[in-house]
Amino acid sequence: MEKPLIGLLDCNNFFVSCERLFRPELKDRPVVVLSSNDGCVVARSKEIKDMGVPMGVPYFQIKDTLKKVDAVTFSSHFALYRDISRRVFSVMKDELGLMEQYSIDEAFFVVKEEPERLVQELKEVVERRVGIPVSIGVARTKTQAKYANSLAKKGNGIYVLNDTDWSERMVTIRLSELWGVGGKTELAFKRHGLETVRDLLSSDKATIAKVFGVSGVRLQQELAGNPVYVVSKKTEPQQSVLSSRSFSEATTNIAVLHDSIAYHVRHVTTNMRAMNMSANRIRVSIMPSRHSDFVLRGGSKEAVLTAPTNDSMILLKVASQLLEELFEADVPYKKAGVTLLGLCESEIGQETLFNYEKKEENTVLMSVLDSLNKKIKKESVVIGSRLLNSAWQSKSEVRSPAYTTKWSDVAVVKAN
Ligand SMILES: [Mg+2]
Repeated sequence: MEKPLIGLLDCNNFFVSCERLFRPELKDRPVVVLSSNDGCVVARSKEIKDMGVPMGVPYFQIKDTLKKVDAVTFSSHFALYRDISRRVFSVMKDELGLMEQYSIDEAFFVVKEEPERLVQELKEVVERRVGIPVSIGVARTKTQAKYANSLAKKGNGIYVLNDTDWSERMVTIRLSELWGVGGKTELAFKRHGLETVRDLLSSDKATIAKVFGVSGVRLQQELAGNPVYVVSKKTEPQQSVLSSRSFSEATTNIAVLHDSIAYHVRHVTTNMRAMNMSANRIRVSIMPSRHSDFVLRGGSKEAVLTAPTNDSMILLKVASQLLEELFEADVPYKKAGVTLLGLCESEIGQETLFNYEKKEENTVLMSVLDSLNKKIKKESVVIGSRLLNSAWQSKSEVRSPAYTTKWSDVAVVKAN
């Protein structure tokens, strides 16, 4: 029998599709989803992509453009997206048995036979049972499948990349278009005259190993159709959450940075608690403007926590220390952010022996805090400092209701 192939299912414009699921009238309307603090664009509908609005662009830069085309804007709603994501993967599991969740909206799986029929059926079942449009690419390796998926997205949502097709295409596929190739790797390839997949494949393996190391060899193997990365049974949950944003004006005032870091900590931890997740590491970053003379003076620092936590007070304390260590007095900072890493499901018994009692108290406090903020108004009760009228802040006012996770917001179907 032929060697098995690898498939990659990817939900189309995932966050946008989740929002549209409950607002079907938005089907052909331009839609964007903003990061949870309304800073940047994190998902775009096809209409928005076609307009050339890039991923990650700050909201204030495109606000007017969006208004002109009558776009609908949402704040990120992670509890909803995670719930829909779970549904997608549970349908995949029913259909396939084995699959490897790669991100919130992507999963790899093994295709043993009849790839066309299998993926056509899989696409139909997921779309019928969950209601989220998906694209599927199939090829010999994960790296090729990722590329096949991009072809699927340009066409009818399915692309099975066979060997002949691949050898014709590899003449023009640029290495920079591939999964995991960007920035420094791309530049290094360029410096050695390697621009396309064919360039890399026609290079001698020993030379590649010498110049680009083991990751270069792996990429070469994957592109040659020899799988280096196998489909594992382990489902990888989301690995990190980030909250960051640019200030409207640069600042050299550490109090403003403390204020913004505290805001981001509250933000990520509220999301984490809503998802019942904890983190084992926290990273703080502060950056000057990319266009200033201080561009190289920014930085980030990470701390490992004694036990996985989603406790705002613990994380705020650590984040403030990291900020103090990073801060340089003469640098005008333009952006700050907090990332929680090493995420895992929160469970009882995760506490270390010594912080057990303290942890108990905070858990109660945190849930009181969350419910007050939900009842009254976001950020009405906060942990940590908060400057009044901070110029950098804005509120997320356009978040969609919690359709699937809060009873009060569940959509009601009426029969006539
Ligand atoms: Mg996607």
